[in-house]
Order: sequence, then structure tokens, then C-alpha cells
Amino acid sequence: MNGLPRELRGFFVTGTDTDAGKTFVCARLARLLGGLAGGRLSYVKPVQTGCTRRQDVGTAGGWSAPDVDAVALQWPRARALACFEPPCSPHLAASLAGTALSCRELAKACADAVPEGDMALVEGAGGCWVPLNARETMLDLMLCLRLPVVLVAANRLGCLNHAMLSVEALQARGIEVAGIVLNRTCPPAQCDAGCGAGAGPADELRILQDNEASLEAFAAEAGVPLLASLPWQEDPLAPLPQLEAVAGTLFDRFRRQGAPRGAMPSWSVPAAGESPESAAEILAFDRAHLWHPYTSALNPLPVRQAVSARANRIVLADGTELVDGMSSWWCAVHGYGSPALKAAMSRQIHAMSHVMFGGLTHRPAAALARRLLDLAPAGLEHVFFADSGSVAVEVALKMAVQYQIATGRASRRRFLTPLGGYHGDTQGAMSVCDPVNGMHTLFAGLLPKHYFMERPSARFDQPFDPASLSEAARILEARQDEIACVVLEPIVQGAGGMWFYHPRYLEGLAGLCRQYGILLVLDEIATGFGRTGRLFASEWAGVAPDIMCVGKALTGGMMTGGAVLASGAVAQGIEQAGPAEGGGVLMHGPTFMGNPLFCAAACQSIDLLLASPWQERVRNIEGWLREGLEPCRRHPAAADVRVLGAIGVVEAKRPVDMARLQDYFVSRGVWIRPFNRNVYLMPPFVSPEEDVALLCDAIRGAFDAGLC
Ligand SMILES: *Cc1c(COP(=O)(O)O)cnc(C)c1O
Repeated sequence: MNGLPRELRGFFVTGTDTDAGKTFVCARLARLLGGLAGGRLSYVKPVQTGCTRRQDVGTAGGWSAPDVDAVALQWPRARALACFEPPCSPHLAASLAGTALSCRELAKACADAVPEGDMALVEGAGGCWVPLNARETMLDLMLCLRLPVVLVAANRLGCLNHAMLSVEALQARGIEVAGIVLNRTCPPAQCDAGCGAGAGPADELRILQDNEASLEAFAAEAGVPLLASLPWQEDPLAPLPQLEAVAGTLFDRFRRQGAPRGAMPSWSVPAAGESPESAAEILAFDRAHLWHPYTSALNPLPVRQAVSARANRIVLADGTELVDGMSSWWCAVHGYGSPALKAAMSRQIHAMSHVMFGGLTHRPAAALARRLLDLAPAGLEHVFFADSGSVAVEVALKMAVQYQIATGRASRRRFLTPLGGYHGDTQGAMSVCDPVNGMHTLFAGLLPKHYFMERPSARFDQPFDPASLSEAARILEARQDEIACVVLEPIVQGAGGMWFYHPRYLEGLAGLCRQYGILLVLDEIATGFGRTGRLFASEWAGVAPDIMCVGKALTGGMMTGGAVLASGAVAQGIEQAGPAEGGGVLMHGPTFMGNPLFCAAACQSIDLLLASPWQERVRNIEGWLREGLEPCRRHPAAADVRVLGAIGVVEAKRPVDMARLQDYFVSRGVWIRPFNRNVYLMPPFVSPEEDVALLCDAIRGAFDAGLC
């Protein structure tokens, strides 16, 4: 994207606090590194407060900036960018001056201030969490600049605490920490090591030395080297041999940073952990080696590189921000990067990311199961954790068959399902997907043959026609000895055609299942957790299934995971099996079953959902979708418009050209991925009205432009 600044190479210097000695260290490092770099080093202070006006031309065009003046004594190429008079935090100083700082602009100014080919030494203001404006802090500026960070830590009371909290804050954002320089900020006689009044210099010294040893050990645990421990130094110009070694180490590292990589890939994205490949290299590698969903390995459709996501926005590598219309396939109901979800997962990672579920249990698993059983339709009493939606479906189908065998109806081994369904891509799940979409001909011989009935023809928004159930009644009557369960998506058929059917159909079907003792398996993987306007779509029909599958929005899109809920009767049925029939145990157990990180994410996501006004949000989105998409109905290329809850569909008369349409949508600043004949939206529940309007506008635009 145009307007992105050149990427800088060099280092960012931050402190554990104000007065940690950042400027002192910067001045000396500037001289040493500048020497090593053959003079090609620029020192930049992006924000300086406590400046004074000068009549003559000062270091910052009419300003005298104290840090820059100090550095300039050692290294002349030193500049301050934004200067303010009051000696206070940048956000406050800027607001007193009647302006506001922005990370984006500061980063741009830094890039402009450093001539091409120069090593940059950028000095922050204060520590990590110093605010630049109401939303952004120094940490955001560091993220923008993507420079490795040198942390200057004051060796005094609180040293370890401040230094390690800073390291954590930096690493939590994926910012690379090049190392720590520990600095004595006052002479031994006044040093503030925290001893009581009666303590002598020897006691103080012992504490300062212990700070050094402890910090070195803790920082090493975090993978951060202690680069030097500096003695007190009165004369800012006297040589400090410890810093020569630091400069040598940093300069080596600088040389290994490689050539500048062109434009900055993004503004608000963690850089560290990512290899220094350009976006073009990543796309080329992806194209050569990676499979994407339903694509060719050798001749794939184009993909785009996403670098970050926040709320309902996805940011691409070129800086383009897209309004998300997909919730990443039903999952991200809270949008992206919810602080509560991140914190819950982070807490769980620190306690225990995973342990096997065989023979062990844990609080997150119990907590999640309790929540699911509390919320799910009545009668569901047992929970099986699966590692994805498809696996949940596999487990549900096995459960149904095991139940029938164990209760003396071993001939019941097939399933009945409507056409147009989607239940996942593993073999068992695929066998009950729509046979055309699911490519049953291709896999003939591999997939068991199940019974299919016509798609529920009664629309959600039209009067119910009982005739729509007659085929189901006929098959169940004729095949009752063969059918273990009826499996379907309640109310909304998702990936198989985005079709919304009448709740009375589901109610009638549940009645038929009861009549023949055939289990009802509801796949709530797409519909669960509020998407249709009810917490679970089965609530529209007041139906309680024997087995229910959840997934997708279960973790709010933070990670994969699913669950199968079963009634007491199903569990008790399976229990009756003799040794030859499995002996009453359910024959399934994935390696990552009950993964604590998944459970923690899911618990937090559910809590977040329930604490939010989700019904109101979904109802609002429904109204906005209706308003925005309904005009498409008049378009000659559109076959139908359907809206339910936070789902909006425009069905085209012919299959759409996905690649062309996707290009168009991205050019309109939205992320919408159509499929087959359906151009559809299921935005995060947190989406504001104007963003939903933008999504709908883009779809109307696509029809008007003849792209559908
Ligand atoms: C997505 C989906 C699945 C499969 O879930 P995965 O996590 O992709 O395996 C199953 N059923 C329905 C209704 C789905 O929408």
C-alpha cells in the first residue's frame, strides 16, 4: 500500500521507568555503534517533553530538547521529532499543546528522519506503558517500528519487578527484546536499594549485586540476555568499557538483520517470531507448498496474507484493513483479539497448556462441561470433548450406533439426513453431507451409504406445510430397523446451501424419531451460541435432541475444538453393552481431548457472550442485514434473499466466480467469501451498523457490477 514508510533497521531503546538512564546509555551507544557503522547512524527521539523554546535554531527546529542535547555531545546526528514544553507524559503534553500524537505518524516521521542505509537508534519516552494518546502507548510505537528493543533497567529498589514486567509486556506483544542493560542511576552513597535507615553501603551493594544476578537468571529464563551491568558514572563522557562489548554484540546483530525489507508490512502487528520474509516471499512459498480449503495444490486460487485482526477488522500485509463479514466461518462471534479471551488463554498457558485426558481431569474441562450442560436443551447430561466440529460429528454418529447395538437393535447402523446438509469433511461426517456437494460419487465405495430425504422445503418465513415431513415419515416407517439416528442441522443448513427451514419441520421430525425410538442428532456447530437469534437453533422448535454437537463459535474463534452432548438415556443405553459390543465404553479418545487451553477459551467465550447483550446485537444485525440485502431481491441475477439472526444470504441464479468476486470485495474494503451460488454474511456480533451497511453495500455493488 502507498504511504507506508521504509522499514528501519537498528534498535529501539526503552527504560523500566523514567530516569533509568536511557539517554545516558543511548548517547554512549550512539557513539560506539556510529563508529562501528562508519558514521552511518541516526539517533531519533520521536517524542520529547520538557523542551524549551530557543531563538536560535535548536536541535529540533526552534526547540531545545534535553535528551537530544545530551546525545549530541557524543553523536551529532541526533534529532527530536515531536517536542513539547511541559515535562509530563507525551499524551498529556500533546493535549496541553492542543494536538494529539499518533503512532502511525510518529513511525512515519522516524522513518523519514533516518537516511536510507543509516542504522537507527530510537529512544522512547519513559517505559513501555507510557501513553501517546488515549489508545496507544509506547508499546504500540515499538510494534509499528518493528525494531528489536534494548531495555535499560535502573538498578535500585524494584529493579527486578520493573525489568521483568517490561520484558513480559514486550514479549506478550511479540516484540523482540535484544537485551537488558542494567544501570546504576546514583552514586553508591545515595543508592536506593531499599535498605533500612541503619544499613551501610555494604548492605546496599549486596542488594544491587543480587539484583544483577537475579535479573540475569530470570531474564535468561525468558530468553533475554543481560548485556551489561553498568557502574555509577558521574562524567557522561568518560569511557565505559562494558558498553563497548554491548555495542559489539548489537552491531553483530544489526548486520544479521539483513538488507532493509522495503515497506513496513503493517502498522499494528507483532513482528517477532515471524521470519524476515517479505509478503511476496510468503505468498510464493504458500502457492508452491500449501493446500488451502478445497483448492488445487498446483493451480490454486489466489490467497492474501493476513497479519493481524482486531474487533471486526482483518489487516492484510499491505496494510489494507478489511471489515469482516464471515466471522472466520461462524467462529469469531466476539470479533478478533478480545482482551478477555486472550487473557484467559494466557493464564491457562502459564498454568498448563495441555495434559492427556486419559486418567487426568482439570478445572477448565469441568467448568466448560458445566456451562454447556446448563445452557443446552434439557435432558443432555454427558459431555464428550472433541478436537474439531467434524470429530464431534464422528463421535455423535458412533454414539448413536453404539447405543442401538447396546440396546439390542444391532441392525440399526445407518443414518437418515436431509439433502443440502453439511457436517464436516472426515469420512463419517462426509457420508451424511449432501451427496453432490460432498462428492459422494468420487468417494463411492469408501463412504457407507446412508438414507437421504429431500431438503426441508418449508421455509422459515413461510407458513408451514406438513407435507414437507411426509418423506421423512415414509423412510422412517420403512427403514426403522436400519436407521440408528436422524442427523441434521437445526433450522439453518449452513455450508450445504445456506437454507433456513421452518421450526415445525424440526419439531415434527423430532416427534417421528421418538415414535420409532430412533435418536435425533442435532449438529449445532454452525448455529450454536447465538447466531440465529437463539442461543441454540433447536430452541426455535423447542426440541431437545438425544445428541448435540457444538464447535466453531464455542471458543469464540480462538482455537479449534468441539463437544458432543448426550442425554442420560444415550449414556445409559451404551452402558448396557456386553463385552463383545464394546462393554459399555464409548470407543473414542482423541489425543487432544479436553485440551485445557481449548476449555479455558471456550469457558471465557461463553461467559463473554452471556454477559453481552447478544440477543439485542443479533437482532440489530438482522435488521441491518434485511435492510441492506433486501434490495438485491429485485436484481435479475439474484434468485433469493434470506436473513435470519446474524446471517444474511443473497442467492445468485448461477455459481459465482469466487476469485473475481473476492478481488472486488477486497477493493471495497470488506472480507466476504462467497461459495457456489451463495453470497452471504455472518459478521461478528460486535459489528457496528455502518460496517454491516458497508458489507451489504459491497454485495449490492457486486450484483450491480455484473459480478454475480
Ligand atoms: C463447520 C461445520 C462442521 C465441521 O466442523 P470442523 O471444525 O470444520 O471440522 C460440522 N457441522 C457443521 C454444521 C459445520 O458448519
